[in-house]
Amino acid sequence: MNFSLTSKLPHVGTTIFTKMTMLANQQKALNLSQGFPDFETDPKLVQLVSKAMENGHNQYAPMIGAQPLRNTIVKKYHEIYQVDIDPTEELTITSGGTQAIFTAIATVIKPEDEVIIFEPAYDCYAPTVELFGGKVIPVRLMAPDFRIDWDYVATLMNAKTRLIIINNPNNPTGKVLESEELGKLATLLEGTNALLLSDEVYEHIVFDGKVPQSVLGIPALRERSFVVASFGKLLHTTGWKIGYCIAPPELTHEFRKVHQFNVFSVNTPMQFAIAEYLDDLNYVKGLSGFFEKKRNLLQDGIKESRFRVLPCEGTYFLNIDYSAISEEKEFEFACFLTEQYKIATIPLSAFYKEVTNQQVLRVCFAKKDDTLLSAIEILNRI
Ligand code: GLN
Repeated sequence: MNFSLTSKLPHVGTTIFTKMTMLANQQKALNLSQGFPDFETDPKLVQLVSKAMENGHNQYAPMIGAQPLRNTIVKKYHEIYQVDIDPTEELTITSGGTQAIFTAIATVIKPEDEVIIFEPAYDCYAPTVELFGGKVIPVRLMAPDFRIDWDYVATLMNAKTRLIIINNPNNPTGKVLESEELGKLATLLEGTNALLLSDEVYEHIVFDGKVPQSVLGIPALRERSFVVASFGKLLHTTGWKIGYCIAPPELTHEFRKVHQFNVFSVNTPMQFAIAEYLDDLNYVKGLSGFFEKKRNLLQDGIKESRFRVLPCEGTYFLNIDYSAISEEKEFEFACFLTEQYKIATIPLSAFYKEVTNQQVLRVCFAKKDDTLLSAIEILNRI
């Protein structure tokens, strides 16, 4: 090697999702680890992509996103949250949620800025902050209720606090922050210089009568927030990598400066197809019910097993406690189950910076009922 290279992310390896999926494939195990559906995308939606291509939508989309899709998103926020978004000044289509998160962080984080994240935290937040020289300030939440002590969070705030990141509904905990908690967050941010990044990619998957929550519905939060959402979770198309970011005009303006140089614009035919598909918002409104049945199937199916199910209010992840079965650490136990019982899950510890061992595994239930029935059979045998 004729050059030397200092890693910008020396502590980062391959993500746990890639690792567990690889192990699942190698072991021919049921893969309930990485969060993706194993059922088909609606053929109607696929046909709409072909139609868009046949209709000539094959060149660059506008940098900010195809207009029909931006209009559809505006309509969604109006109907579901009674919130009005300006499709030209406040909304940018991105290559999935992760890119929107990356770009929002890149837009605002400078060296020495502090960013508060809540652990267990989705894996991309901390490395992205560190890549831009920011300092991650983790707030550790523990099973089974993962409750946030807002007074404690207040003690972490100072002049360097640039950003707070929340994920609501939360991957991996399945917790949903409702108006009361969001109100506490608004109080915390009041009078500070800190911004909010609200990752809402599971917004339409909430259970037991809960209604979707967006920080856009709270003016004090909206005025300082980047809100990120994704069509991968909404349309069962995680491979399409299309999402968006909503932020006030001043933030959107800066966001787009970065976006135009790392992505420029997002693939065109899929944007047209999604716009047409979501013209009728009944699909969106039915998503919670669709996944609630799957959650119930899995939850009820393992009631008599030795796993203890943790509460799941939203997302398509269920956490299960195996402390009655083994004392092994989470990663080791997850590998053991993949190898010996042919079922792959995600260790909860993967979402914490410092090692934890709460003997909890995350199970994805965005799966065909048959897959879930096979998983239930296995989990009951362990
Ligand atoms: N969002 C998916 C999950 O939580 C993972 C996506 C990825 O592999 N980066 O499982």
